[in-house]
Amino acid sequence: MFGRQPKKSDNTKYYEILGVPKSASQDDLKKAYRKAAIKNHPDKGGDPEKFKELAQAYEVLSDPEKREIYDQYGEDALKEGMGGGGGGHDPFDIFQSFFGGGNPFGGAGGSSRGRRQRRGEDVIHPLKVSLEDLYNGTSKKLSLSRNVLCSKCKGKGSKSGASMKCAGCQGSGMKVSIRHLGPSMIQQMQHPCNECKGTGETINDKDRCPQCKGEKVVQEKKVLEVHVEKGMQNSQKITFPGEADEAPDTVTGDIVFVLQQKEHPKFKRKGDDLFVEHTLSLTEALCGFQFILTHLDSRQLLIKSEPGEVVKPDQFKAINDEGMPMYQRPFMKGKLYIHFTVEFPESLSPEQCKALEGVLPPKPSMQMTDMELDECEETTLHDVNIEEEMRRKQQQQAQEAYDEDDEMPGGAQRVQCAQQ
Ligand SMILES: [Zn+2]
Ligand SMILES: [Zn+2]
Repeated sequence: MFGRQPKKSDNTKYYEILGVPKSASQDDLKKAYRKAAIKNHPDKGGDPEKFKELAQAYEVLSDPEKREIYDQYGEDALKEGMGGGGGGHDPFDIFQSFFGGGNPFGGAGGSSRGRRQRRGEDVIHPLKVSLEDLYNGTSKKLSLSRNVLCSKCKGKGSKSGASMKCAGCQGSGMKVSIRHLGPSMIQQMQHPCNECKGTGETINDKDRCPQCKGEKVVQEKKVLEVHVEKGMQNSQKITFPGEADEAPDTVTGDIVFVLQQKEHPKFKRKGDDLFVEHTLSLTEALCGFQFILTHLDSRQLLIKSEPGEVVKPDQFKAINDEGMPMYQRPFMKGKLYIHFTVEFPESLSPEQCKALEGVLPPKPSMQMTDMELDECEETTLHDVNIEEEMRRKQQQQAQEAYDEDDEMPGGAQRVQCAQQ
């Protein structure tokens, strides 16, 4: 883990997928995508994964804004939503919008069976991380179980590869039921066929694949290594494309980890900055202080005041470049803010007062004669919890406003309750 270099984000892959140089013009991109997408279309027996990759690469590079982000920061930056979401779009939609719905395969008929591969669902996992993890970067190995296409029958579910049309739905996967709502009103409802679970096909018992029992998929354990990079944020997503559950005729969805930062006992984070609380005694605030702060990477920072400097209660001070590292630019760091609380002594003896008065700036002089004092009224100062008192007053006002609107005889009683 020590000395792990920040991963250089790949920003050439999309160009390689389309087989164009980095300097390719929009026209070059279009030509390259047209040729490759037709060749690799699953309806023409192409590889669905390759087709998906082509669509993703084209989607990004054909959008000048996304292309710029990709050139500068690579694929991950797009996944993090800098470009308003990279990928994730249905490759068939991209294909169709490119060809404007026409038949790109040429020739009459083609193979437009209207079959479109569904996109499998993304699987979202929360991933708890500490602030230390986000400061230093780390990697976590996670074991997950997922459905994969059965290797024995290649996802067909049968030994022979054959399947029969479901008798319950004539292969459509849907059943229609009719409900009578009234003498002359009926409602038609469509729902997935229960006999074939909406797949439209059934497998002969004798022909069933022994490995997956005709389910077409089997469970597999997989270990994913999640790289938490320096400076990542709470709720940032880390995506493993195409690693979710596999299913027949389906483009596999992504596994998405969502970072959840645990509370830190000492440091609070705001963007790239860190905040820490520190309490000084009155003597430290007036006459200087020094203390050691252990940082998130265990470094010991010596923090001290300038000679003669006085720190006031509630004051902030900052240290440059000791905040959080910035994501994908970890050599740049935010600020570390220290918020000072000053603890005053509860009381002082007359001798202590005298000693302090000897060194502190003099009190404002206000000479009063005995006669002037005789004309004044004596008062007494009480301690108060001002927040508590304000809260109670507000409650009381709200209650009175409510009671004024209310003509019920119970109103007077409620005022009494509130005043207790
Ligand atoms: Zn059926
Ligand atoms: Zn099987």
